[in-house]
Amino acid sequence: MRDPKDLKILFAEDNRIIQRIAFFTFGQMGIPIDFASNGKEAFEMYRNKKYDLILMDMQMPVMDGLEATRQIRAFEKETNPDTRVYIVALTANIISEKKDECLLAGMDDFMEKPFQEQKLRSLLLKSF
Ligand SMILES: [Mg+2]
Repeated sequence: MRDPKDLKILFAEDNRIIQRIAFFTFGQMGIPIDFASNGKEAFEMYRNKKYDLILMDMQMPVMDGLEATRQIRAFEKETNPDTRVYIVALTANIISEKKDECLLAGMDDFMEKPFQEQKLRSLLLKSF
């Protein structure tokens, strides 16, 4: 099994407070993460670095999480059909966020905010 510290993780979230929480939570686990502030930035960062896991906020300015996920999946299909980054939708309330739409866009999983270390740990295990 791979060490979670070797995972390349991108955290796409426009809310600075949630970014800070993620910074500390992942920091406590000794796992470095990269940050994007909107979907467009997330997509561009993904193109330049092969991430293992992307935590994708649903609602972001410039480009939302759904559109960013669609673009990432299209890019994967074009460039490297054998790889598929694990994308987790970050949402305040999954019921209101239309689970089907997330899955259709190419997301793999969901995590409700605010998240806890325990939840993150189980998510990391799944994304290997
Ligand atoms: Mg947001």
